[in-house]
Amino acid sequence: MSKRPFCQTKAYRNLAEDAITNLTEQQAREQFTLFRWGSTTVMPCPSCNEIDEHYIRRSRNQWRCKHCFTDFSVTTGTPFLHRKLSFKKILHLIYDFTSSPKGCAANENHAKRGVTLRAAFLNFHKIREALFEMRDQTPLSGLVHVDGGHFCGKPRRPRQRKQVTSAIVNNKLRNRKASMIPGGQTPTLEPWNRDKLLNRRIAIVMAQIGEKGEGATRSIVGVAMSESAKDVIPLIKKYVVPGSTVWTDNGQAYSRLSTWYEHDSVTHSKEYSNDKGVNNNQAESYFSRLRRAEYGVYHGMRHQYFAFYANEYVWRADMKKKSLGEKYADAMEKIFKSGPSKSWRGYVQGHRLGFEYLG
Ligand SMILES: [Zn+2]
Repeated sequence: MSKRPFCQTKAYRNLAEDAITNLTEQQAREQFTLFRWGSTTVMPCPSCNEIDEHYIRRSRNQWRCKHCFTDFSVTTGTPFLHRKLSFKKILHLIYDFTSSPKGCAANENHAKRGVTLRAAFLNFHKIREALFEMRDQTPLSGLVHVDGGHFCGKPRRPRQRKQVTSAIVNNKLRNRKASMIPGGQTPTLEPWNRDKLLNRRIAIVMAQIGEKGEGATRSIVGVAMSESAKDVIPLIKKYVVPGSTVWTDNGQAYSRLSTWYEHDSVTHSKEYSNDKGVNNNQAESYFSRLRRAEYGVYHGMRHQYFAFYANEYVWRADMKKKSLGEKYADAMEKIFKSGPSKSWRGYVQGHRLGFEYLG
């Protein structure tokens, strides 16, 4: 019998949903406190950082600092500052987000958790933003697979369908190149529809390959406006140590990489891996998941937040050998380290970030 993947083993299932469902609200608050400070009695004050057993304001579930007399709660200085949901609901949402291997749509789980769609959407995005803020940007080295994928900004199909003639069908059956098809009339996109292409973003993923044949061990994704050398090369130079081996496809943007790297490429119109074994399959594997998330899980991503989504799937790929409990704890740690949300605090009141993360 072949070896079962890690996500089907008992070691993976070390945190079932019941562990959260059975908590009282008080216990959920304690779990939050423990994840944040490792203690429910001694903690650093968020404003002056003095570690002490601060005065307890029991009726308000707050503490008052013994040194600067500032009141604070467990959510002060975290993305869940001014939360409206109960701690238990927040923990459930974090569990839903981290335990779903292919992503969890707010639309799919808000009613199940008894919250509005907007509450689920905002809280999922706060988790995504925390993972993004705390991502490991240490440059990659060794063997790195690199590729670009186009996301967001999809025009609707034109009203008229492409003219299909028997010659086109025949060529398709014989697997001939599209350029050999005798010219049928191509329907043009209306201006409002063509403008959607302006929202297109390119994810450039760099996947570092492990030495024991275990696939990608760590990845970094950057977001660019185009897949051209002027956008792609600075990104690769930022995130891959010079002198490393870089494998790409034969795209124009990558042709100058041999100036800084041991560069090799595979011609995708001919093969997925060349005779020397050169491929960029680990980058392609990341895109297969992100593509399915775009179509099948989220049914579209807004370009303003694309960097968060792209990084979410890097996190999922990097955590694939970790158990449910480890994923949950890792997300919790990043949430508490990341500070108040920049993009989502005051979102309901109309606050927007005003820029998008590129690079
Ligand atoms: Zn203080």
